[in-house]
Amino acid sequence: MGRVVFAGETAIMEDVLQRAQQTRVAPCSAGCPVNTDTRRYVEAIARGDYEAALEVLLDANPFTSVCGRICHHPCEAACRRSKVDAPVGLRALKRFAVENARDYREARRCPVAPTFSERVAVVGSGPAGMAAAHDLAKQGYRVTVFEKADTPGGMLGAAIPRYRLPYEAVKEDLDDIVALGVELRTEVTIGVDLTLEDLRQQGFDAILLSTGLSESHTLNCPGIDSEGIFLAMPFLRAVRMGAPPEVGRRVIVVGGGNVAMDVARSVRRLGVTEVACICLESREEMPASPWEIEEALEEGVQIAPSWGVRTVFAEGGRVRGLELRRCTRVFDEAGRFSPTFDDSDVCTRLADTVILAIGQRADLTCIAGSSVQEERTGRLQYSPATLATSERGVFACGEVARGPGSAVEASVRRMSDLCSHLPVRRGEGRQDGHHARGDVPGLRAVRCRVSRRRRCPAAVRHQPDARGAGRSAQATARRRGAAPARRLLLLPL
Ligand SMILES: Cc1cc2nc3c(=O)[nH]c(=O)nc-3n(C[C@H](O)[C@H](O)[C@H](O)COP(=O)(O)OP(=O)(O)OC[C@H]3O[C@@H](n4cnc5c(N)ncnc54)[C@H](O)[C@@H]3O)c2cc1C
Ligand code: SF4
Repeated sequence: MGRVVFAGETAIMEDVLQRAQQTRVAPCSAGCPVNTDTRRYVEAIARGDYEAALEVLLDANPFTSVCGRICHHPCEAACRRSKVDAPVGLRALKRFAVENARDYREARRCPVAPTFSERVAVVGSGPAGMAAAHDLAKQGYRVTVFEKADTPGGMLGAAIPRYRLPYEAVKEDLDDIVALGVELRTEVTIGVDLTLEDLRQQGFDAILLSTGLSESHTLNCPGIDSEGIFLAMPFLRAVRMGAPPEVGRRVIVVGGGNVAMDVARSVRRLGVTEVACICLESREEMPASPWEIEEALEEGVQIAPSWGVRTVFAEGGRVRGLELRRCTRVFDEAGRFSPTFDDSDVCTRLADTVILAIGQRADLTCIAGSSVQEERTGRLQYSPATLATSERGVFACGEVARGPGSAVEASVRRMSDLCSHLPVRRGEGRQDGHHARGDVPGLRAVRCRVSRRRRCPAAVRHQPDARGAGRSAQATARRRGAAPARRLLLLPL
């Protein structure tokens, strides 16, 4: 039977195939944001060598358990097998390898002796910050991660529902990183408990901001302050902690993206039978992944596309429903968000709870009192090529810099590639959007192959008597471009 091709998939495929040709890597690897060497791990699984498969996976991505469960798997969209019937189930194979090499994974954990005296503070323990911490620690730097929440992991631990991503999977990946020697300090809010200046005073030579997009946008319409209206992020956090707020019998989720689907499906799991998602986009334009929409529909969530909220109507201060108007267009000719409505086509939907899932924004508390600049988008101004912000020695990565995306995109690490390539001295990075060698998928794939040779078991490399271990770790660090990193990223502020 032919495979369903989702909207936009053909264009993505063409782009990936073009890149694959240019870089001479397999389309599936070119399609993966971290260029996982897909062929090698599939081949290792076929041989029954799950440990080798795990090594290939971890070389590309420290968030391997997480991605085995929730990656949006663009590798599969690029898989050539789709031309025959259906793509190889690469994400499922990844999870299979991870789950079959757990003991080996625990045994291979080992600290990396720091080879440089410079210290890096990473702010935020989501996939972006922790992947960066992983790379910097492996290069021999001393890394401390500051996290405002009591649990590390960013959105992976705080918002993505447990039925899709149990915390054990997040912890497995984080444990690998912490085992390298990364210090993790939770319940410290940078900008409140400590400022960037305090971090410098404490001896950190570089600061990497990876604070994500953790706040929900709200709507600006009459009645929005009524009781019974919630924002998606606090709602999902509460559900994840096992303490959801009380919801009514009829729930409307406003939004058509993946977060809206997660909210709606979480509400269904709370036992609510009438759950509807309303969104501005038409069904074809909805930003949620097609499989998320399908699964939500299968679970009984209603989807009402092409509607916008005009008014919240309330009784005694409590929401009773929404007045909706037809949305005739979401984006203008230039592709900018600019919705238009037909005010003659209106309807009313009753609801005793409304949850707004219309996008996330950054909380930039961390830059309080500093000279780090903000974009008009509300995210941090930074150079995608060098990660440098407008303040010397302060860098940014992940969603707070590059905008909303996926976990694997957030964990794309360019530390060594960027640092070896670009004139980032004392944080004076280029703001010209110039792209680094690290953006070329083929080169990252080559780096993965090189680091594969370093494979633990490193009882030898990480002996407490560290003369030999230190030398070997330093050699390792140099092979991976750590010397340029030291020179470029970590000069004193
Ligand atoms: C509901 C939901 C579902 C998702 N589903 C998927 C999915 O299925 N697949 C997928 O690939 N991606 C998914 N994503 C996206 C994915 O979670 C993000 O792309 C990723 O977490 C972004 O990583 P990040 O490190 O940039 O930021 P975050 O994960 O947001 O991490 C930022 C961290 O910084 C901390 N922080 C913020 N300010 C401070 C401060 N001042 N001081 C100290 N710490 C601070 C925050 O507490 C947080 O822990 C989902 C996201 C959400 C919200
Ligand atoms: S990280 Fe995602 S895109 Fe890359 S190989 Fe794994 S499932 Fe595919």
